[in-house]
Amino acid sequence: MRRILLTPGPLTTSEATRRAMLTDWGSREPDFIALTEELRQRLLAVANGDESHVAVPLQGSGTFVVEAAIATLIGPKAKLLVLINGAYGERIAAIGRRYGRDVETLVWPEDAAVEPARVAEALAADPAITHVAMIHVETTTGLLNPLPEVAEVVRSAGRRLILDAMASFGALPIDLSTTPIACVLASSNKGLEGTPGLGFAIIDRALLEQAQDVSPSLSLDLHAQWRGFEANGQWRFTPPVQVVAALVEALRQLEAEGGPSARLARYQANFNVLVGGMSRLGYPLYLDPALQAPIIATFRPPLGRPFDFEALYAALAARGFIIYPGKLTREPSFRIGCIGAVKPEDFRRLIDAMSALNSASPATVA
Ligand SMILES: *Cc1c(COP(=O)(O)O)cnc(C)c1O
Repeated sequence: MRRILLTPGPLTTSEATRRAMLTDWGSREPDFIALTEELRQRLLAVANGDESHVAVPLQGSGTFVVEAAIATLIGPKAKLLVLINGAYGERIAAIGRRYGRDVETLVWPEDAAVEPARVAEALAADPAITHVAMIHVETTTGLLNPLPEVAEVVRSAGRRLILDAMASFGALPIDLSTTPIACVLASSNKGLEGTPGLGFAIIDRALLEQAQDVSPSLSLDLHAQWRGFEANGQWRFTPPVQVVAALVEALRQLEAEGGPSARLARYQANFNVLVGGMSRLGYPLYLDPALQAPIIATFRPPLGRPFDFEALYAALAARGFIIYPGKLTREPSFRIGCIGAVKPEDFRRLIDAMSALNSASPATVA
């Protein structure tokens, strides 16, 4: 049975992507060095950053590269303002504090977007702030923060923006030639539809050049990692060779699909089938639709009837659909992802499976 992961990652991958992992590459083989170079160029191209930025992949999950970016870019004299409206914003602030850095936060409720005007006020009030970190799509809820507006506020205040674009990269528009972002962070296993095992930073070259010996960590040091690639095309430490090969294959498929705009259109079509079907089955969407990105949808339990998430999860898993057990901190809810190598047809089958469960045992399942 084909397994469909409707989570925020790891995600469903295509067969061609999984098949790209069948070779045992040596890390210093010329062919693997060429694959790494293609990876770095394709990542830059997705964000249109060829002129200004460099791509620095790093072993590990997305959080590893977020931590490496904070360690490398926020030195002891810098001050980081983190814009928080969910768990991933909280995580960036926690990383900064763990490194003993000067961290300030601005916090919004989980169902409200970052407000550019409040960011502008905070920057005007505190000249010590050097960098601002924001989550593009806050995966806690699926909320889209206003990137162009916040980037402009940060630029006009003369500060640097660090963007966690983990959930959005490859689908939602990020154009470094028109939007001022110092550092974009993402990973292999979300909108790029690769397999899990590496994150990457797309960093303003001039900024990264100044970051030598800033990171207190040996392995989580993006300056040293970048210098390694520039010196001989090789990874500093053992590369996740199969993950690299799969991600290059997935990036070729992204291009063949028509690039991020075509991918976004597919995710939007997935989202529309999902949310339309869930609404007919009585599950309200948690967010105001105006704030929602078609990446992951948060639903409230159905009104006026008992709801058992564990039973729903298990019944869907038995039918090949893995939904996401995480929930919001404050309100009863559950999430279903719309991204990965999945199509509207898969969501029609999901909704059919849920309707069948509804009529089979309305009291226990949904
Ligand atoms: C997935 C994700 C991360 C990284 O999570 P990992 O589990 O470390 O891969 C960071 N930020 C956001 C917004 C994410 O969606």
